Amino acid sequence: KYLELARQVAKLVKPFEHAIHSHHFFSTLRGMVNLYLETADTSLLDRLEEEWEKINTKGLLPTGGAPEHYLTTWTSDEGCSEADWMMINLYMWSITRKIRYIEAAEKTLLNHFFWNQSANGGFSCNYGGGDFRNGKMGNHAPGKRNEAYWCCSMHGTYGLSEIAKYVVTFDNRSVWVNLFNDIKGALRMMDSEVKFSLRTLYPLKGQLHLEIESENPFDLKIRAPSWLQSLPEGIPLGQSLNLSAPTSVGARPRPDINLGGTSLNLTVNGASVQPDIKDGYIVIPKKGRRLKVELNFPMQVRTEAPAISSFSYNKSDFVPASVTGKNLIFYGPSILRPVDKLEEGEIVIIPDNPDFRIEKGLLRIKFFAVKSPEDAADKEKWQARIFEPISQETFSPMDITEYLFRVEGLKS
Ligand SMILES: [Zn+2]
Repeated sequence: KYLELARQVAKLVKPFEHAIHSHHFFSTLRGMVNLYLETADTSLLDRLEEEWEKINTKGLLPTGGAPEHYLTTWTSDEGCSEADWMMINLYMWSITRKIRYIEAAEKTLLNHFFWNQSANGGFSCNYGGGDFRNGKMGNHAPGKRNEAYWCCSMHGTYGLSEIAKYVVTFDNRSVWVNLFNDIKGALRMMDSEVKFSLRTLYPLKGQLHLEIESENPFDLKIRAPSWLQSLPEGIPLGQSLNLSAPTSVGARPRPDINLGGTSLNLTVNGASVQPDIKDGYIVIPKKGRRLKVELNFPMQVRTEAPAISSFSYNKSDFVPASVTGKNLIFYGPSILRPVDKLEEGEIVIIPDNPDFRIEKGLLRIKFFAVKSPEDAADKEKWQARIFEPISQETFSPMDITEYLFRVEGLKS
């Protein structure tokens, strides 16, 4: 009788166009996932994919998260719906194996979700002014996340426990490494115990170190993030990459500070191997008892120009990037923000070889800013601006976080 009631509830779920409160809407979709897993009713899966499409194109912030409400006047987020969106994507990946879901999950996790986290580990809800449509979002109390302990902390920590299940997943023939996080343990594939250890400094550094021990053969599949596969275009991975080629406005990490170097290098049991990438994963056949994998890849600085949704009820008007002229700046998978606020109208200059610093696990990157496009040509007028991943909010809270910029990339 409960299952029958669930079927009836699922039929009543209104489409995205009628959604206002994102946590409510996303929760109903999580319920539809559970119902699909129980019934294998493909009409539910079709409906989920349809709603995902609409959320992905009309219902997300450039940071990968969602606003609390789909209302034109609303300016806050909520940790619970960021957690929902991440979980929906992880579940949809496990059902469909479509790479877009795991990519969306990681984008939200490493950016909006961690940005939302309070210093005590809880998750928050912020009404602090700014306008996320213009790439500025405020805190309720300046310099402090406003924890919603009665809601977001519970759903956020539930989300964290769900994420842990998807770092490494497996079936009878494959082990997938989906999210890069330190992990050590054992899993049982058929009759074999597979001992597993993954060490990494990602997303600070593009480096993975895996050690696996088991009797059985299988394919190890390590996710190759799409930004890594598409940059630079046309050059096969594994070759030495000339990243100063005009492939993006961005630049490369300085090789001398060893932030992953400038090429993707894969070593399997001590031997250098050309990566075999299928459906977004580097496939490595495990044959012997032990498998030892070292993977190094570059963490480029790059930009993306998102269209901005107005999030008005029942429709979504878009302002294309060609009109806003605004960009996200990424370091690998991480969206960056200025540590010191930019002045109104300032243009960010990304030099060819930005200086990096990692101190106590926190990343700082040195860009520059100028007041007008003409000033960009005159290095005398460049003023240093330090950027960091917005996920570092918890460690250095700001009253307004900015994440969309006019950008000039210059060749040195
Ligand atoms: Zn909440």
